[in-house]
Amino acid sequence: MNKMFGTNGIRGTINEELTVNMVLNLGRAIGSVLGPGQIALARDSRMGGVMFSRVMIAGLLSTGCSVTDLGLIPTPTLQFMVPRLNCVAGVMVTASHNPPVFNGIKVMGSNGIEVPREIENQIEMKYHSGEFTVADWKNIGQVDYDDSSIDQYLTGIKSHLDVESIRNRRLTVVIDCANSVGAQVTPQLLRDLGCKVVSLNSQLDGTFPGRNPEPLPDNIVELGRMVKSASADIGIAHDGDADRATFVDETGTVLWGDQSFALIVSRVLSKKPGSILVTPVSSGKLIEDVAEQAGAKIDWTVVGSVVVSHRLAEINGDLGGEENGGVFYPPHQSVRDGAMTAAQIVEIVATERKPLSQLVGELPEYFSTKVKVPVPPDKKEAILQALLGFTDGMERITMDGVKILNDEGWILIRASGTEPLYRSFAEGKTQEIADRLCKTGVDMINKAIEEVR
Ligand code: MG
Repeated sequence: MNKMFGTNGIRGTINEELTVNMVLNLGRAIGSVLGPGQIALARDSRMGGVMFSRVMIAGLLSTGCSVTDLGLIPTPTLQFMVPRLNCVAGVMVTASHNPPVFNGIKVMGSNGIEVPREIENQIEMKYHSGEFTVADWKNIGQVDYDDSSIDQYLTGIKSHLDVESIRNRRLTVVIDCANSVGAQVTPQLLRDLGCKVVSLNSQLDGTFPGRNPEPLPDNIVELGRMVKSASADIGIAHDGDADRATFVDETGTVLWGDQSFALIVSRVLSKKPGSILVTPVSSGKLIEDVAEQAGAKIDWTVVGSVVVSHRLAEINGDLGGEENGGVFYPPHQSVRDGAMTAAQIVEIVATERKPLSQLVGELPEYFSTKVKVPVPPDKKEAILQALLGFTDGMERITMDGVKILNDEGWILIRASGTEPLYRSFAEGKTQEIADRLCKTGVDMINKAIEEVR
C-alpha cells in the first residue's frame, strides 16, 4: 500500500500525483474517520486550490460532516480557528513550501494540531478500503462561510505582544509573502504594530511569479535588496502557507533559521527559568547554547513539525522550534506559526533597540550549510541502510537519519519526508568547516545511491 502522508500532510503534483478523484475519496475517508461533526477548511493560493477544496468539501458532506469554509488563509490561521469553532477537524489545501506544480492536504484534529501518525494511518486505511460513511439523504452536511478568522487570529497574536512599545519604534519592515496567503495576515499585523510596511509578492497568484515558495536564501535575494534600498529594519519571508518565516537583517543578510529561533529562545525562555524547549535533532549547537544560558531544558525529537507540536502539547512545553524557521509558541498555539514568529522578532528588535544584525552578532557563532541531493523515490530506505553501514563505529545519533558528531561540528543526513531527496546539513565553527562537513555528507549520499542502484 502506497504511503500517502509525508512529514506534514499529503503532497503531489497537481492533476498527476494528486487528482480530484483522490481528493474526493480523501474527503470521504477523513469525514468517515474524524466525523461526525463540523470541519473547518481553508486553502492557500496554489493552482488547484479551488478545485481540490470543492471536491474535498463534497467528500466531507457526503459522510454527513458539515463544513465551515474559511477561504484563503494561512495554515496556522486555520489551526487557530479549529478549536475556537468547536470543529472536530480541520483540512488545509496546501503544499506548504513545495514547488508551484504541487498541491496537497494537511489534516488537523480538534485541537488544531496536525493529526498524529495513527490517525493518518486510519485515514489511509479507510481511503484504500473504500468503505466510507454514506449519509442518509436527509443528513448530508451543510456548508457555511466564516470571514472572521483573520481578525480573531491577529487579535490572538497581538495579545501576546508589547504592542505599545513596538508601535513607539515605528520600524520599517519589508514583507515577502511568496504570492500566497501570508499576504492575508502579516502585512496587516505589521501595520497594527505601527510598522511602516513595504510589501513584496503580496498579490495572491498560484503560479508563484515572484519566487519559489520555499524561503531559502537563494529564493529571497530580492527581499535582501529591497530591505537595503528601503533602509528597512527587518525583512520577513513566508513560505507558501505562512507557517514559517525567514528573516533578513537591515544589511540585507539572510538569517539562518537557527539564528532567529535562537533570538526567540533566549528572550522567551529567560523570562521563565526551568522552561522546556522542544526541538528536533536537526537543531544545532547554537540552540543548545542559548537554551542553556536561558536556564531551559531541551526535549529532543525526531524531525517533523507535527512531532514537535504533539510533544509540546503532551509535556506542556514552553517553546518549540525548527532550524527551517518554524517557531511554536504554545501560549498562542502549539503549532508552527509564521506571523507569530514574525511578530516576535519585530518585538525583540523594537524593545531591545538594537539593529537585528547586532542582536544576531551577539549570539554564539556557528556556521551551517545545507545541500539537497535528489534520490530515486523508492530507494530512500535502502539508502538509509547503506548510510548506517558507512557510519558504523562513528559517534552518531540515529534517532532520525544519521547525525554524525565530531570535534569540529556535526553532519545530519536524512531523507525529506515530502520530496524525493536527501539533505546533508552540517554545522561547524567556521564556514569552511561547515562546507567541508556538508560535502562529506553529500559524498556519502552519492555513494549510497551508487550502492543501491
Ligand atoms: Mg509551510
